[in-house]
Formats: sequence, C-alpha cells, structure tokens
Amino acid sequence: MHTRSTTNASMADQTKREQEERMLKSRMEEIGFKLLVLSGKGGVGKSTVAANLAVALAMRGKSIGLLDVDVHGPSIPKLMGLEGRPIGSDGESMVPIHVSENLKVMSIGFLLRSNADAVIWRGPLKYNVIRQFLKDVEWGHLDYLVIDSPPGTGDEPLSVAQLVGSPAGAVVVTTPQDLAISDVRRCVSFCNTLSLPVVGVVENMSGLVCPKCGEEIALFKTGGGKALAREMNVPFLGAIPIEPEIVHSGDAGTPFIERHANTRSGAAFAEVVSRIVGGDEASALESGAADPQKETSE
Ligand code: ADP
Repeated sequence: MHTRSTTNASMADQTKREQEERMLKSRMEEIGFKLLVLSGKGGVGKSTVAANLAVALAMRGKSIGLLDVDVHGPSIPKLMGLEGRPIGSDGESMVPIHVSENLKVMSIGFLLRSNADAVIWRGPLKYNVIRQFLKDVEWGHLDYLVIDSPPGTGDEPLSVAQLVGSPAGAVVVTTPQDLAISDVRRCVSFCNTLSLPVVGVVENMSGLVCPKCGEEIALFKTGGGKALAREMNVPFLGAIPIEPEIVHSGDAGTPFIERHANTRSGAAFAEVVSRIVGGDEASALESGAADPQKETSE
C-alpha cells in the first residue's frame, strides 16, 4: 500500500514536472532572442548595462522584456525606479510591470522579503526558484528578453543559461583592469562550454573624462576588454567611460540612456547597442555577431 501510494506520488510529481517543462518551453518560444548579460564578478556594471540595454532597445521600437534573476543582488528594481512595486498575478502567471508600451520588467527582487532571503537558499532551491520564475512570468511575445544574470560562472548563471534555451547569446561585461579581465576569460570559457554564443564583450568604466578639461584619465586602465575579446576570438562591443551621471541616474531610478543619450557615455552606449542589433535595425545577431569566431570591431 505504502509502495503504491509512493509510486502514485512520484508519477504525479513526474507529470507536474513535465507540465512545467512544457510551460517553460512555450513561454521561451514566444521570445525572439534571449540576451544574457553576464559578468565574471560583481560590481562591474552588469545590471547597469542590462537595464540601459533594455531601455535603449525599447527606444528603438523593439518589444523588450527585462528580467532580473540575480538572486543575490537584484538591483533592477532600484535602477528602474520600481522598488516596492507590487507585482500583479492572473492566478497562474505573474504579470511583469509595464514601464512603457514596449518595455516590461520583472525582478526576482520583487519576490524576496530582503536580499538576505536568497543567501540562505541551497543550490537546488535556487535552481527551482529560478526555474519557476522563468516559467511563471507572462511576457507574451517579445523581440528580446534582456536577462540580468547572477555574476560569476557558478550554478546560478549555469541554471539560467540552461533554462532559457535557444536562441540566446551572452553579453559579457567587464572593467578594464587585469583582475576583472581574468574573471571574464572564465566567463567566456563558461559560455563556450555551454555552447552559448558570445554576442560580445563590453568594457565598462573605461577611462574617466575630466568634466573640467575634457581630458581622458585611464582610472582603471583602458583597452583590456578589447585585448581580451581579440584573444578569446569574440566580438568587442565597445567601451563605456566612467560617468558620474550613470551613478546618479542609477540611484535616482531613471535609466541613464533615457536622458543622457547625447553625452559621450550615452553615445558609447548607443554604439554598443548598434553592434548588438545592427545599426540598420537588422539584427546583427542574425548576421553572425553571435558567432564566437567573428570579430565586429577594430
Ligand atoms: P553589477 O551588476 O556588476 O554588480 P552595477 O550595475 O550594480 O554592477 O553597478 C555598480 C555601481 O557602479 C553602481 O553604483 C553603478 O551606478 C555604477 N556604474 C556602473 N557603470 C558605471 C559607469 N560607466 N560609470 C560610473 N558608474 C558606473
């Protein structure tokens, strides 16, 4: 008797699991392309790049979802000015926040009581939370889902990369100095192991433009991201200078690119976006930018 009920329970589990797999697959199939924003370590501007990339793509008329699955430091609510916003549900699914007509946002941070919540979760639980989260958000049709992934090359970014399926590609964010660069080397190898195409490397915090004299100061050195991209045979997407306005905008919850597109950093950012989707609006991804063998920039 005990054995039969145990068998029934495990069959029910199995059926539920299969239903969930189907649900996840059908959600992901509605999305044209998943752009995973990764970094070898925290603090290099991964979330800033993810948020501004999503906003910039939406400003170009694309239908965009911005998803934050950085369980240990979900910063998208803060960067997008959405902290404390309740999320809607239609019973079965979670409804992302519509920031504008073609930009929807969802963060795992909306579900945590505090950042300390995730820290105590064990690996399998984190995997299940990420999986359920990907399955339960009702995005509808999107051109791109920009995903702010957990930093590093551990189980969490691995779960994300495996769960979203294809077509997908990684935008790897780094700062120019050696330590960050060796982390990104690991990150590119991680993508190669997973057969996740690397869309390209962004060098963030690349030099500081003196607001008084306009001279550029290489605070964390410059050029490391480009050298690394060449060495690893992946595209280089561009360098974004250190920009005090990026910090202010992040703290104020207004994406930098919305108001400062005409600054040097704004222009640098626009260049990165063009290299990802193609300046002529034809997707550079389709024309091979996601091919790890191709270099798009000199
Ligand atoms: P990560 O997601 O890699 O941990 P964040 O995107 O949260 O990093 O950025 C960390 C801090 O650095 C934030 O305060 C952000 O405003 C700041 N920042 C990011 N990029 C730049 C930049 N180019 N210039 C100046 N500050 C930046």
